Amino acid sequence: MEYISTRGNVEARGFIDTVLMGLADDGGLMVPFKTPVISPETLEEWRSLSFQELFLEIFSYYTNDEIPYEDLKEMVYTSYGNFRAPEVTPLRKINDSLHVLELFHGPTFAFKDVALQFMGELYSYISKVRGEIIHILGATSGDTGAAAIQGVRGKEGIKICILHPHGKVSKVQELQMTTVDDSNVLNLSVEGNFDDCQKVIKELFADLDFKGRYHLRAINSINFVRILAQTVYYFYAYLQIEGSDEKKINISVPSGNFGNIFSGYLAKKMGLPINKLIIATNENNILERFVLTGEYKPGSFTGTYSPSMDIQVASNFERYLYYLLDEDTVKLSAYMSQLQTDGKITVDGELFNQVQADFAALGVKNQQCLDTIGKYEQEYGYLLDPHTACGIAAYEAFSGSGETAITFATAHPAKFDEAIALTGIKQDFPAQISALFEKPQHMTVVEHDKAEIVRQLQAFYG
Ligand SMILES: *Cc1c(COP(=O)(O)O)cnc(C)c1O
Repeated sequence: MEYISTRGNVEARGFIDTVLMGLADDGGLMVPFKTPVISPETLEEWRSLSFQELFLEIFSYYTNDEIPYEDLKEMVYTSYGNFRAPEVTPLRKINDSLHVLELFHGPTFAFKDVALQFMGELYSYISKVRGEIIHILGATSGDTGAAAIQGVRGKEGIKICILHPHGKVSKVQELQMTTVDDSNVLNLSVEGNFDDCQKVIKELFADLDFKGRYHLRAINSINFVRILAQTVYYFYAYLQIEGSDEKKINISVPSGNFGNIFSGYLAKKMGLPINKLIIATNENNILERFVLTGEYKPGSFTGTYSPSMDIQVASNFERYLYYLLDEDTVKLSAYMSQLQTDGKITVDGELFNQVQADFAALGVKNQQCLDTIGKYEQEYGYLLDPHTACGIAAYEAFSGSGETAITFATAHPAKFDEAIALTGIKQDFPAQISALFEKPQHMTVVEHDKAEIVRQLQAFYG
């Protein structure tokens, strides 16, 4: 399997080189040259597979020629061995029309662990078999950083630096990142918001000289391996529902950077018969506005109860646009430079119809998010975290009668007690989370200043 850039100006690469490259050298995102399609018969054969077995089947299509099966298998079983649920991502039935797929049973209690536990193992493997230096650099709205740090802490041959917006992540998120005392971890707490952090990172990755000199590697969902790892639970969830081949299965996904939902789009392209893909966002609703009007235009930043979705520039949107434009790299490049110059992109006519066929979308307001948490606690005794609550509100808005919905629970409610407390609900914290409050923190607070951030990186990576 080979991979190319959405912008068409990078020579085709193999799987490992694609992982190492992260952001494509021409500023685009790496995508498979050809998407493998799974036949309905094969899909039915997969019904009895465990999460790990399914992971191996799906990845084999993408890594086959480069990573020996036994090596991949070892990485997969190590990655998911420390999840708190044997199913890895268990599916809970809430009522006849709704299931919740719990993606928060990994070490940091959010869905990012599913891809990043594997990615930590993979980077470690690449460092060993290829002798590559792995210097991970990333920005986080909270969950990615925590999960990435847990994925690689203490691993030989790897250093990781994570930027997070100072004071704008939840207390538990901050503690999960900063109470790690391994010397291969650096937390930079930036005076600014997430988009400010991500902008600096994007510029550093776009500076090929800097990127090469310091061996920068990405863990953001610009990295294709994250997208691919996330397709596994779309297949898994679908296959867990009895008779799903005869049902209309909708999937509602709390979304920010468009990474998770893009994995669903890819799963559908690979032949998974998902009926509706529902994008749930909060008041930072660039994706909702795009689906409703065809205009993609970053708006102003709003702080909400679901901070991991407080994002205006959805990185993976470019991958979707590439497929929307029929994999035409020239057209895609024109749209992306238009976004750069005009600050927006508009699609109309046939293209817009296609967008509306591909997705439904809802930007959930703060109050509606809290109301949804209260309602599900009262009616079903099931406590939603605020991101998942947005997903549930969007499922309620779009799932028709007779349809079956799966909403992704992207985080454990204990991670976002600030919002839960506003509903008047008191929750018990899992022991692993309570323990964080006792540990010392390690982080460096920096101005939102690229030169200062670069100095910190140079000192750390050496
Ligand atoms: C990261 C995150 C999201 C958004 O996922 P994207 O892949 O960026 O769209 C939603 N919910 C939680 C809890 C997250 O951590």
